[in-house]
Amino acid sequence: MPCSSLAEKKTGNTLAARLARLGLRTDADFVLHLPLRYEDETRITALADAQPGVAAQFDVEVLDSEIAYRPRRQLLTRVRDDSGALLLRFLNFYPSQQKALQVGARLRIFGELHEGYLGPEIIHPRFHVVGVEEPLPDRLTPVYPTTAGLGQATLRRLIARALQRTDLSDTLPPELRETLQLPEFSAAIHRLHTPPPDMAQAVLEARDHPAWRRVQFDELLAQQLSLRRAYTARRARGAPRLKASTKLTKALLASLPFRLTKAQQRAWQEIAADLGQPHPMQRLLQGDVGSGKTVVAALAMLQAVEAGHQAALMAPTEILAEQHYRKLAAWLEPLGLPVAWLTGSLKKREKEAVIAKVGAGETAIVIGTHALIEDKVEFARLGLAIVDEQHRFGVRQRLALKEKGLFAHQLAMSATPIPRTLAMSYYADLDVSVLDELPPGRSPVTTKLVAEARRDQVVARVHEACRAGGQAYWVCPLIEESETLQLKTAEETYARLSADLPDLRVGLVHGRLKSAEKAAVMAAFVKNEIQVLVATTVIEVGVDVPNASLMVIEHAERCILLYAQPLGELARARLKIVFESSDGFEIAREDLRLRGPGEFIGARQSGLPLLRYADLEDEALVEQARAVAEAMLRDDPQRAEAHLQRWLGGREELLKA
Ligand code: ADP
Ligand code: MG
Repeated sequence: MPCSSLAEKKTGNTLAARLARLGLRTDADFVLHLPLRYEDETRITALADAQPGVAAQFDVEVLDSEIAYRPRRQLLTRVRDDSGALLLRFLNFYPSQQKALQVGARLRIFGELHEGYLGPEIIHPRFHVVGVEEPLPDRLTPVYPTTAGLGQATLRRLIARALQRTDLSDTLPPELRETLQLPEFSAAIHRLHTPPPDMAQAVLEARDHPAWRRVQFDELLAQQLSLRRAYTARRARGAPRLKASTKLTKALLASLPFRLTKAQQRAWQEIAADLGQPHPMQRLLQGDVGSGKTVVAALAMLQAVEAGHQAALMAPTEILAEQHYRKLAAWLEPLGLPVAWLTGSLKKREKEAVIAKVGAGETAIVIGTHALIEDKVEFARLGLAIVDEQHRFGVRQRLALKEKGLFAHQLAMSATPIPRTLAMSYYADLDVSVLDELPPGRSPVTTKLVAEARRDQVVARVHEACRAGGQAYWVCPLIEESETLQLKTAEETYARLSADLPDLRVGLVHGRLKSAEKAAVMAAFVKNEIQVLVATTVIEVGVDVPNASLMVIEHAERCILLYAQPLGELARARLKIVFESSDGFEIAREDLRLRGPGEFIGARQSGLPLLRYADLEDEALVEQARAVAEAMLRDDPQRAEAHLQRWLGGREELLKA
């Protein structure tokens, strides 16, 4: 049917598109697409022996079949075997299925039995009509992760084909397998796709079976190989040596109304040393909100400028970018350095003017949003690229930035603590400076979990804090709903709080406001003309207002003061962690465990999970993979290449973003 296939193409619903959604392109991809669980179709269970809640297979005969109309249209088929009887219930069915279920038909069914209103029943069993003698499979049936419109049968067929024609030769030499006590790759893979029936399902599904260990090791090895290669490639690339600044940084330090904290000094020294190297810095500056990352960034920019290069700072939202812009302009313009501003909301002509100046090298320092990495923007001599809250940018944007700053030093800043295991493995090629100290007079943000039922108490606490001269943020992000809904929630919260707190001024910022409107609200908050600021994302709250001592996050993922029920399982687990742990690192670590590192670092957008089988928490295995990767790249690069090819195919670039 040409019509429907055209429609399918349009919506990207072809088989290839569905497979691509699962990251399945090459034969190796199929081979490495491993089962989530298994079903045992190797035996027939007598109906009398069926256990409620346990999936099993039965051979039965149809007694009768009828369509019932109450409470809704459904097909009810009664079946029996020598030991008992059972009801099959189909809420959706095709005429062809109804026909197959005629009286006397012999069926092989698979499903989970439970006690229904009319006795034992199975809802929507998988079934097919069997001939006289139908042999049972001699392997457990794999159940694969899949996506809408892609059936298990299709996946199984494609994977079986790939298993047959793919070279499964081992990328680990026998001695190494011996030392690490890992099985052969081919044996492990076959075992996982088509396990023999004597293998207990639970053993396989627990994922600590040697076959899984082998897969996990291989996956970590691929990751380590790719990271080390990226590291080597980066070291090989040249970057301008930015000589230590003797004038501008001193002038800035002298003009500041405060002294750097020890942590800031240390981070600044680490960065200054990197900038003097002839290859690109790749450093993460990590510190809580309020720890003073901006001034460290400013010092780095000054070193670049004094050495005759340009420096750029990019932030994920207009509000954050604007905050940086204001602060940096206030610090640097008195030193005679104009600071340029570039965002999508500028008028076309203003934008073109900034881009022209950046291209001509007339502008040394530019601050902005992702407008900075648009194609049109070309830097005359970019020496340093700084990205705030880097993980908030999408993969494509990070790749674009990487390209623009290929030969520049790079500094990422983040308030999200990155767990050690993640830093050491995922970011194998990233150096980290930590601001583990807040400037004097700043108190750490405390977090507390409160149920929606106690909203009144939270409002009272906000009231009290604001009456005492403080200010509060009230963030209402929605986890997985539309932007429109999110806005509605924020507006409702704003209205409700305004009513609840008649003697305070409540403000609202959200993504749909024009930037002038946002700026006006922020300015009012900074001046304490507004005491309670309702916002739609936590990120907007990165905005620095020292007087704001309280943050309420509704439905949030972390740092929650107020939450509403019911919660999804994941959200509940996260809340529990926040509740039980006051340590930001601990929260991030647990978060990582729950969500997987792919999501943590924003790779979810790429549609490709970074680690599917291995666990970054498995430090021993990560360490082994690191050591093997290093040795393999040195001693047997061809083997390393084959291993990478198997695991990453052509995707290496994307995974590194
Ligand atoms: P963040 O790490 O969240 O980006 P900022 O750089 O915005 O933090 O700094 C928070 C506030 O603390 C700013 O007002 C900044 O000027 C101020 N600040 C930074 N360093 C110090 C310091 N050493 N002593 C006192 N105040 C500081
Ligand atoms: Mg900041």
